[in-house]
Parts: sequence; C-alpha cells; structure tokens
Amino acid sequence: MTAQKKKFGIMGGTFDPIHIGHLVIAEQVRDRFNLDKVIFIPSGNPPHKSRKKVTEARHRFQMTLLATISNPYFEVSSIEVDREGLTYTVDTIKKLKEEYNNEAEFYFITGADAILDLATWKSTDELLELCKFVAATRPGFKLSKMEKEIADLEKKYSKKIYTILVPALKVSSTDIRHRLNENKSVKYLLEEPVESYIIKNKLYNNSNKE
Ligand code: ATP
Ligand code: MG
Repeated sequence: MTAQKKKFGIMGGTFDPIHIGHLVIAEQVRDRFNLDKVIFIPSGNPPHKSRKKVTEARHRFQMTLLATISNPYFEVSSIEVDREGLTYTVDTIKKLKEEYNNEAEFYFITGADAILDLATWKSTDELLELCKFVAATRPGFKLSKMEKEIADLEKKYSKKIYTILVPALKVSSTDIRHRLNENKSVKYLLEEPVESYIIKNKLYNNSNKE
C-alpha cells in the first residue's frame, strides 16, 4: 500500500514585516486545499550591490516565527535566510523536495501581484513542474485582469494555476513601514508580538527606509 503524499504549502516573501495579509492567504489556502502544513520562507539578505533597503534577514525571520507561532499548521524555514545573496524559488523548492525525499506535494502560495510576475522568475517552466501555484486575490489587483493573466500563463506553460478568493485586506509591508516611520498605529495590521519585536529592536523608524 502506498501512503498518500503529504501536501505542503510554501509561503515565500520578504516579510518586511509579516502582516495579516500574509497570514490570511496562507490559512485560506491551507484550508481550501487541505494542506498538512504551510512553510513560511522569508527571503535572505539581498546581495550587497542591490539598491533596495531590506531589513536584516535575521529580524524578518524572527518576526515570521512570532507571527506564525499560534498556528499549529504553520512553520518557518530558514532555507533562504541561511544563504547569502539572491536565492531563486526554483532552487529553494528543489532543495525542499530533496529534504522531504520527494514524498510531498508542494503548493506555492502567492498574492495577485506576485503571480503576474511569474513569467519573469528563474526557470518558470521547471518551477511549474515542481509545484502547484495558488494565486490569492489582493486589493489593487483586479480579479478580471488576474484571471486573464493566469489564463495566459496556463496556456503558455500548459499547467493549471489555481485562484482563490480571500477576504480583501488592503495591507502591505510598505504601508506598515510608512506608518511606523510616521509614528502611526499599526495595531491589528500585524500580530502583537511582531509589533513588540519591532519596537524592541527599533526597526522601521529611520526615515531613509523605503
Ligand atoms: P512589500 O510592500 O514590501 O512588497 P508585501 O506586503 O507585498 O510587502 P511581500 O513579502 O512582498 O509582502 O509578499 C509576500 C507574498 O504575500 C506575495 O505573494 C504577495 O503577493 C502576498 N501578499 C502580501 N500582502 C497581501 C495581501 N494583503 N493580500 C494578498 N496577498 C498578499
Ligand atoms: Mg510585495
């Protein structure tokens, strides 16, 4: 008798910081696809030459741990944080597959904005072979446009891409960083322990952050 493959969600992101928008899409996809767990993967430190200012990976990793601790289905992987420089999703998924001896099926979870970029990711073809993609609706990204773009991607790569309608949360890390920088409240936009961590470590209060 062959055991049924486990189904794991992969939630990649910069998580700078992690907020309720991330948590809601991960939980909705877990529920809808009956996933055994969702693995959150914060991105690593960007290469030095990269122009964009991103908070140190160790802080983003800690915040991701704090935000997900109350959900028994959520876990956090340091697979990208442990690697210096740019990491590509395709390489991360390959490594994860190896780690699980190819005994698990992966569902890569993205928001509407991320799925629209999929064709620009490294080895999109291979990536779509390695895991299923689930795109969640996101305020600011019209459902009709998203559906059209997804249909185009499905045609181009001959692969199914799933869409899920989630409760709309007009929250972004960029907006939260701006609010913190202006000493505005971010209560309820992120998990309380994450807010405490931000205050304790004095993150996002220097005005040169994007
Ligand atoms: P930033 O403003 O810094 O880009 P972000 O809020 O977009 O941050 P990311 O870490 O870039 O967060 O996103 C990780 C993943 O979560 C992406 O696939 C993104 O589309 C998705 N996502 C983030 N916020 C939402 C939201 N409010 N609704 C749906 N999907 C979201
Ligand atoms: Mg983003």
